[in-house]
Amino acid sequence: MEKIKMTTPLVEMDGDEMTRILWGMVKEKLILPFVELKTEYYDLGLLNRNATGDQVTIDAANAAKRLGVAVKCATITPNRQRMEEYPELTEMWKSPNGTIRAILDGTAFRAPIVVPWIRPVVKNWEQPITIARHAYGDMYKAVDMMTEEPGTATLTFRGESGAEKTLVVQTVDGPAVWQGQHNKDSSIRAFARSCFQYALSQRQDLWFSTKDTIAKVYDGEFKRIFEEEFENTYRTEFEKLGLTYFYTLIDDAVARVVRSKGGFIWALKNYDGDVMSDMVAAAFGSLAMMTSVLVSPDGVMEFEASHGTVTRHYYRYLKGEKTSTNPMATIFAWSGALKRRGELDGLPELVRFGQRLEAASLETLESGVMTRDLLPLAEPGFAARGVDSEEFLNEIAARLA
Ligand code: NAP
Ligand code: MG
Repeated sequence: MEKIKMTTPLVEMDGDEMTRILWGMVKEKLILPFVELKTEYYDLGLLNRNATGDQVTIDAANAAKRLGVAVKCATITPNRQRMEEYPELTEMWKSPNGTIRAILDGTAFRAPIVVPWIRPVVKNWEQPITIARHAYGDMYKAVDMMTEEPGTATLTFRGESGAEKTLVVQTVDGPAVWQGQHNKDSSIRAFARSCFQYALSQRQDLWFSTKDTIAKVYDGEFKRIFEEEFENTYRTEFEKLGLTYFYTLIDDAVARVVRSKGGFIWALKNYDGDVMSDMVAAAFGSLAMMTSVLVSPDGVMEFEASHGTVTRHYYRYLKGEKTSTNPMATIFAWSGALKRRGELDGLPELVRFGQRLEAASLETLESGVMTRDLLPLAEPGFAARGVDSEEFLNEIAARLA
């Protein structure tokens, strides 16, 4: 059989622990036999980040900017405990995902992989709901304070020109708490563009919700910028594809989402996205079945699994045990990246391969063969057989071939 050819490489960011082991297995069994894979390889494993003073993470992010598509393995974000586990670490290196997101100015989209025999808690959800969470500002870059006596708080902005703007926040008659939040037009605009770009690439409707009836200026600015971007840049393409941009209040959106069939992208402000992404993820079933895509305002995409490096399984693997770690999200990161590469480069066979890889993985699950984390989630009566990761990947490979 002839292997599928690629023209442009994609950026491959290797990672840590159990997911690094899965990474190698997925490539060896599911990609390399079928595709003449071209990648620019960056080892984001903790020890190489340490050896390069984390330069490798910056280089990988810049390569993604240049080549337009990346696929990333889960990586360790060191904490105090990891500093003890890896005494050679010279610094508590920052989260690679944070570094990459800052360089790409990107928004992360999280989508569940849906199979018919894992019923979402919300029984009318038939298709995935993808959550786009704005990742800058609001409560996460706020200042808080407490005061003890009666008095008045004001909010003052001092411009570089010397001009000032002051508002009374409130006059209180006793102890009180206060918070100052901000966001930047540039960040909101980048968020909006990433959302419209991703909706077009997925051919899905985009929903956006805030509370602009209450926060008329603050949330109003989010609503205005989204509308402006839609009207000026994206409306024509949305209409061409029969897609809708739908704005509604956050409380109305929650009620509609719960009653929907799914199958759309829901963009949310930072806090709303924090809350709703965990709600939607839990209702769809499993972290091991969650994928994530980082999308920059100009359409660069970095695909990954939402879960971490699955440390506990790795320790068992090091002892020589076969683990039943779920590779679905890692496979879908690869298939997503290959499909995107194929679309950008005009390679329909590569797009078709990505689709077939996803279909073969889903069919394997539908045949009842799965990693053991999924057994408790299967509908009663579904004949499920738990296998280790390697056997699971072999089953998928057999279907692909
Ligand atoms: P985790 O790696 O996602 O694992 C948490 C638990 O969830 C696992 O112990 C396992 O439960 C279950 N699980 C997650 N993914 C699974 C899979 N594919 N198959 C089967 N079970 C799965 O989260 P963590 O333990 O909090 O973090 C471990 C490391 O990952 C940390 O160093 C953290 O910094 C890093 N991390 C990286 C990323 C990223 O790169 N995007 C994201 C999150 C965390 P059982 O052990 O009960 O089977
Ligand atoms: Mg959260």
